[in-house]
Amino acid sequence: MVIDSVLMGNKRLDYSREENIYFIQPEKLEPGEITSMKVYFHGSPRKAMNPPWDGGWIFKSDMQRNPWISAACQDICASCWFPCKDSQQDEPDSGTVISIDVPDSLTAIANGKLLQASNLSDDCKRFIWEVRSPINQYCIIPYIGKYSEIQDSYQGVSGKLDLNYWVLSYNKEKAEAHFGQVKKMLQAFEYWFGPYPFYRDGYKLVEAPHLGMEHQSAIAYGNEYTMGYRGKDLSGSGHGLLWDFIIVHESGHEWFGNSITSKDIADLWIHESFTSYSEVLFTEFHHGRKAADEYCKGIRDNIDHSAACIGEYGVNDNPAHRTSDMYWKGANMLHTIRQICDNDEKFRMMLLEMNRRFFHRQTDSKEVEALISEFTGVHPSVFNQYLRGIEIPELEYRVKGRKLFYRWSRSVQGLQLPLKATIHGKTRTLLPGSQWQSCKIRGKLPSEGISLILNPNYYVDVKKAD
Ligand SMILES: [Zn+2]
Repeated sequence: MVIDSVLMGNKRLDYSREENIYFIQPEKLEPGEITSMKVYFHGSPRKAMNPPWDGGWIFKSDMQRNPWISAACQDICASCWFPCKDSQQDEPDSGTVISIDVPDSLTAIANGKLLQASNLSDDCKRFIWEVRSPINQYCIIPYIGKYSEIQDSYQGVSGKLDLNYWVLSYNKEKAEAHFGQVKKMLQAFEYWFGPYPFYRDGYKLVEAPHLGMEHQSAIAYGNEYTMGYRGKDLSGSGHGLLWDFIIVHESGHEWFGNSITSKDIADLWIHESFTSYSEVLFTEFHHGRKAADEYCKGIRDNIDHSAACIGEYGVNDNPAHRTSDMYWKGANMLHTIRQICDNDEKFRMMLLEMNRRFFHRQTDSKEVEALISEFTGVHPSVFNQYLRGIEIPELEYRVKGRKLFYRWSRSVQGLQLPLKATIHGKTRTLLPGSQWQSCKIRGKLPSEGISLILNPNYYVDVKKAD
């Protein structure tokens, strides 16, 4: 895309371009001053080849051959199609107004609430949408198609929340039944995380020509009204088929990603680990703790240990290019921390406080780690292990007579991760280090030898030495 001119008031501003970045020289501005700038631009927006993973516009047709258009640009960033301050560090703090002109047979939808729909001519309509909360640039997205609307509302912890579902007209009946899950999601997430963060902008699902994306207050939905992830259970436990992955996961991002945003994409784990863990908490709220534990354990099979979850700071380094471990490994780190905390109410208070402290704000890993430690008492080395290291820790043990010896055979330096284990029928807390330690075993020794059974909710490998 090419900028044609930049105006501040009536004055044209000078600008220069370096690759995909424009440098604009405004008039002298005072700190705190509010001003406006008009940027005129043109071009042919790039098409996404594999949305939503790569970025750009999507031009498709629905099954009745009506045009169906949207965009997705989390990875490449929003400046692939409109000029903006393209950084997660800063958001338009007073929201955004999006105006879209379309042929009158189609409807245009965007984030927030519909301000106005008007006829421009006999065959052309204008739709103007407004978001009033701060919003990530990559979440600002238009949808154009032959849509029907389903209206509903939810009585949530902050009052009445408008629910609007925009679906392809021929899917309306299917959607009415399937989207009943949204209220279950809100019920679970408001319990664990506090109020839905965008009451004044409403909650929307918009059927999209791709799988899905967390577009704030206008979530892209493309899971084809199936349960699980395109009809599959990512956990292999069976519990992932009890709900629609896209509804639960992308809505989880309204709290973690859209309300709480990482300043730097290197800290993507703040978005994805908590959102992946939101799937576990949704499962727990509606199907019980056992199902949640099994789901969390099941998603470990997706972990590849190919790179660290945190990327390099300051250079727009998206660690998801190397690994997706910030999803499932991150969720399992949080589940491990919950075992260390050993107090579910405190753990929930941590989640609620996180959503209060960083509400509609940008943050970073250090701030989030400090908050988690404050509530759960977890040692900073645990974050080094799971977020900055690649492997998970391994506990090694051996038994000699009445003594059990144990140590970390693999861990980051100085890992302090207390483990609850059942040794010869008795529960004990071990605090392994890199050197062998031992504890005494009491009672009659069985002929088959002593066993150590670690609570399986810790994401830790266990090895018995010969
Ligand atoms: Zn996600």
